[in-house]
Amino acid sequence: MSPPDRPEWSETGFPHIWLPYSQMKTTPRPVEAVATDGVRIRLADGRELVDGVASWWTACHGYNHPHIRAAVTDQLERMPHVMLGGFVHEPALTLARRLSEILPGDLGHVFFSESGSVSVEIAMKMAVQYWLNQGIKGRARFVSFRFGYHGDTIGAMSVCDPDEGMHTMFHGLLPEQIVVDLPRDDAGFEQFDRVLASRADEIAAVMLEPLVQAAGGMKFHDPSVLRRIAALCRKHDVLLVVDEIATGFCRTGTMFACEQAGVCPDIVTLSKSLTGGTMALAATVATDRVYDAFLSDRFDAALMHGPTFTGNPLACAAANASLDLFEREPRQDQAKRIEKQLLRDLQPCVGLPGVADVRCLGAIGVVQLDGPMDLNALRGRFVEKGVWIRPFGDIVYVMPPLVIEPEDLAVLTGAIIDVVGEWSAALSSGQ
Ligand code: PMP
Repeated sequence: MSPPDRPEWSETGFPHIWLPYSQMKTTPRPVEAVATDGVRIRLADGRELVDGVASWWTACHGYNHPHIRAAVTDQLERMPHVMLGGFVHEPALTLARRLSEILPGDLGHVFFSESGSVSVEIAMKMAVQYWLNQGIKGRARFVSFRFGYHGDTIGAMSVCDPDEGMHTMFHGLLPEQIVVDLPRDDAGFEQFDRVLASRADEIAAVMLEPLVQAAGGMKFHDPSVLRRIAALCRKHDVLLVVDEIATGFCRTGTMFACEQAGVCPDIVTLSKSLTGGTMALAATVATDRVYDAFLSDRFDAALMHGPTFTGNPLACAAANASLDLFEREPRQDQAKRIEKQLLRDLQPCVGLPGVADVRCLGAIGVVQLDGPMDLNALRGRFVEKGVWIRPFGDIVYVMPPLVIEPEDLAVLTGAIIDVVGEWSAALSSGQ
């Protein structure tokens, strides 16, 4: 769209916004979204894009689902917000109970916050204080994994992949953690076993994204890897924190990725699809073992955390409505059907020059490239093709709303085949 066609609010507002993950000097002017519906995003110039990203993996039921809208509207009219300090309310308590019922094992104590990163910070505080409350000092470090990503706040950054987490730039600010390769074979597990054996007395917890390391490059691992890590945590009496922020709510084909490994972690973090992609809400959920360590006659054993909007009724109402939809509608089957179609329809990318790997798990499809990519150019091409697909790092991927119909999914995969095909041909011809 040429500048004179841009809406007035875009022209006057753009100089004043600081966008996420963007070099503001060189970033291309973003497209203006004005409305969403189902799996489509409408732009100010009237074009419509089929959405392959579900707004950073949140809009699992598609946009503007009438059931969530009705629940939020009703809550908005009665009580948009009231502090959770001193009050409780139905949306938060109902949501806490329902999450406890659907999470594995005895994960039954829910602490609400407003973003994934903050839920990770809370998990880290819980894990460290779990030991302190038992009189065990010095266990304040975390073991995390290369290619892991857990958020952008300081604690969360410290457990990200050191390169992605910009550990060097923020040296001195970030707590030093133990970041290791994700073990995938016997040799890897022996190495991991040795790290836990030699340093257990300084480790609070191991922190892992189950089955998919998402923002670190959509790297998958087998459920047996998660199972073996959980077993080693038990062996060395180290807590296991599982970050289901990206994987939770059917993204990998089961409600929670942990289920595929039969693992119940000590603490789990949830966000993104928790409200069906409508509102900011996150949860840090602990087992009885962790929770019980905070019960005491001493006040200072309590968890000292309380975000202003913790348990926001509007967000909890949205999340309860989202859980209704998971109960009523076949999201797991939809994720499995998406996996099947992605596996089939992305096949033409396999073997193209510059394509390193094509992989799918649940409603996640990934084409990994091995060659120079102009991310902005690729992103622009996808918009021209009428789809919203945003490559990052070395991957082109889709994580669409789980409700996407086969025809719309075919539009997404068709665009990937075209755009990756063009890129690959240009690579081969040395352009
Ligand atoms: N953990 C994981 C696994 C994530 O994918 C993300 C976000 N991409 C986060 C934590 C951070 O969540 P938020 O952006 O809501 O802070």
